[in-house]
Amino acid sequence: MILPTTPSSVEATSAPPADWQEALRRAIRSGRELCEFVGVSPKVAFPASESDFPVLVPREFASRIRRGDPNDPILRQIVAASAEQASGGTRDPVGDEQAALQPGMLRKYQGRVLLVASGACAVHCRYCFRRHFPYQQISLGRAGWQAWLDTIAADPSIEEIILSGGDPLTVSDRRLSWFLSEIAQLPPIRRVRIHTRLPVVLPARVTPDLLSTFEETAQPIYVVLHINHAQEIGPQFIDAAQQLRRAGATLLNQAVLLRGVNDQVDSLADLSLRLLDLQIQPYYLHQLDPVEGAMHFDVSDHQALHLVRQLRERVPGYGVPQLVREIAGRASKTPIADLLSEEVANELRY
Ligand SMILES: *Cc1c(COP(=O)(O)O)cnc(C)c1O
Ligand code: SF4
Repeated sequence: MILPTTPSSVEATSAPPADWQEALRRAIRSGRELCEFVGVSPKVAFPASESDFPVLVPREFASRIRRGDPNDPILRQIVAASAEQASGGTRDPVGDEQAALQPGMLRKYQGRVLLVASGACAVHCRYCFRRHFPYQQISLGRAGWQAWLDTIAADPSIEEIILSGGDPLTVSDRRLSWFLSEIAQLPPIRRVRIHTRLPVVLPARVTPDLLSTFEETAQPIYVVLHINHAQEIGPQFIDAAQQLRRAGATLLNQAVLLRGVNDQVDSLADLSLRLLDLQIQPYYLHQLDPVEGAMHFDVSDHQALHLVRQLRERVPGYGVPQLVREIAGRASKTPIADLLSEEVANELRY
């Protein structure tokens, strides 16, 4: 087992490479190459912004970018821009470090533990709140997973396991199958949740082995996809989503509200309606976590609330995601509407 040491490294296994692993090896790994691939000026890329968080995107996903359009909503999410050099933001905006129970295991909310199951992703999203996460400090080998299981088994107050990362579906099918079969033997665990961008970025990741692991897992599995714009959805993803549902997974989506990507009611409505077509429930619309290098994506809370009000007039109630922000130290994600009324209350007090 080779441990991922940087967000771009992919877990190696002794199994013959499945297509998705081959696709990751062939992925685009520089802004220059990306600009060439999508036919935009190389000036759109800013190499100095790539040094601590390199560009990474599989060709399959990059081919969903409109050729020749520097403002394309997918391109903007993955090209390292000069705006990343602007000031503002912090390196650990959501207090991950203070929430660590043990390496790679975060506990912020009642009944739920989040496992940083992998340091690798299939794509590097420029707005990622974990773009500075110290993945290399985490032992992600089999012993690390066993240590998580030991902690989980000893604490019956844990009822939901959240696999996150990085992207937990960069982990091999063998490892996931082993882990979920161990989890199945722990009665206090009532749900397993997997937060992943892989099915949309590289639909080939939804392999027959993964599907049978899901079918065999005793607890309900929630797959929280991460899709920010309807243009990310292609025919292979549509198949993959259907297969995941047939394997018994409940599909949810979380998106991040991003200036210049999806901060228009039309694109939010389009995304919600496409998700509902595929029986994927819009779950969260996150306000950007103020991470260093990504502040140019920020949308103000007032603007965000206004957009969601407009969205509510356009789609069914169950197509409206909860607009939230993660605030370090709070017991849950915070709805933006609550945040603004707290502000009003504070102003009245003074
Ligand atoms: C967001 C998050 C969760 C999940 O929160 P839900 O509101 O249940 O989706 C769990 N643990 C951590 C550390 C999180 O950041
Ligand atoms: S947002 Fe998710 S998929 Fe994108 S870089 Fe961050 S952890 Fe990886």
